[in-house]
Amino acid sequence: MSTATKVILVTGGSRGIGAATCRLAAKAGYRVVINYASNEAAAKALAAEIEAAGGEAITIKGDVGNEADVMAMFAAVDGAFGRLDAFVNNAGVVDVKARVDEMSGARLERMMRINVIGSILCAREAVKRMSTLHGGKGGAIVNISSAAATLGSPGEYVDYAASKGAIDTFTIGLAKEVATEGIRVNAVRPGIIDTEIHASGGQPDRIAAIRGFVPMKREGKAQEVAQAVIWLLSEEASYTTGSILNVSGGR
Ligand code: NAP
Repeated sequence: MSTATKVILVTGGSRGIGAATCRLAAKAGYRVVINYASNEAAAKALAAEIEAAGGEAITIKGDVGNEADVMAMFAAVDGAFGRLDAFVNNAGVVDVKARVDEMSGARLERMMRINVIGSILCAREAVKRMSTLHGGKGGAIVNISSAAATLGSPGEYVDYAASKGAIDTFTIGLAKEVATEGIRVNAVRPGIIDTEIHASGGQPDRIAAIRGFVPMKREGKAQEVAQAVIWLLSEEASYTTGSILNVSGGR
């Protein structure tokens, strides 16, 4: 039986950066809620791994870009634990390489619905539970942006870059909005990180192609991003809010 009390919810927590964050969060003493979109096997395997290591984890299926799913996900956290101390807006998608003059409306709607609207809907529900204004005990939120927000990703996915620019602005604004309500809000901008997201955008060789342009001449590991997330969530970062931390090897 785990002795953890604090509860963390990580959207897209079943694979990649989200999964690394869930692993470190369990080690840091959180009870972990792993959200995923469709790959139940990956989510269940991670929960089993955390439990085998002495932690506590549950999985919740749900599309962050679907408001009913978001409401059901947070209600499930309420039902399971009755508290929420930390929230990570990690779920995000890319799309296939394209110029802006080739992008369909459907592509743009999916990108913005999941990456932007999904993140704002989830943050709304987290704030309702954490804010002292709503009777909560405070908490911390970390949004996962991207180096793309500053690079723009021309010829690849400017829409994705713009969605992450929105996350940066959202982080700054929400941080100020809830600064006196016990909630800190920060973001992390990962550079090129070794996860399956590149293959999901039809570019399985993207890391090898970009590695040479990174000042540190290597890709990052999901755990290296997770370490920054866990620090921002922790009391060690008690005076840090509205910050956007580059975890990008200097890129
Ligand atoms: P990943 O390996 O592709 O994993 C994506 C995770 O998000 C999976 O758990 C997936 O669930 C979940 N997910 C996808 N769409 C979802 C939705 N609509 N609702 C709920 N969950 C959803 O991705 P990653 O590379 O770890 O990326 C995580 C975050 O970091 C994203 O926001 C991404 O934009 C950002 N980022 C990544 C990089 C990089 O180089 N990897 C760089 C900068 C920023 P299923 O398993 O069920 O599909």
